[in-house]
Amino acid sequence: MQRERFRAHHILCTSLYVGRGYDGAFCENMTRVVERLRREPETLFSLAASPDLICQNCPNHDGAGHCVRNRDRVAEKDRAVMRRLHLEEGGTYSYREMCACALRDLDEAFFEECCGTCEWKRQGLCEYKDLTEQLARVVRSSSY
Ligand code: SF4
Ligand code: SF4
Repeated sequence: MQRERFRAHHILCTSLYVGRGYDGAFCENMTRVVERLRREPETLFSLAASPDLICQNCPNHDGAGHCVRNRDRVAEKDRAVMRRLHLEEGGTYSYREMCACALRDLDEAFFEECCGTCEWKRQGLCEYKDLTEQLARVVRSSSY
């Protein structure tokens, strides 16, 4: 069975999402995806370092499978998250499992390294404290 792709660094982004994004279409899609993940955390995905269900509506997605914003760096960020969380590219995981691994394996130094240059972090929208709280909510509840 073909699973939807979920790119690894989006474990962090979906946890910290507060309704801000690149444009209206991106936010509408991201809000739908995040609500679904929180409602159905057992949904299975194929873990990826390539465009996923969130990238689909992003103005930085070129429609041919590439992020034009950070082409190589964003895939490297995905792979750094996978290594850190001991997850495999192409592996099948539920959203809850991915969040549990993030809660277990991430620390503030890694978060700073991974997200330090992102514009959303620079705007104060992504904080490590909030990340751990949100990850714990997904891990400990069936939905919220
Ligand atoms: S700082 Fe950027 S990459 Fe990191 S979680 Fe926030 S939006 Fe995602
Ligand atoms: S900036 Fe790139 S990685 Fe992030 S959502 Fe858009 S297309 Fe995907």
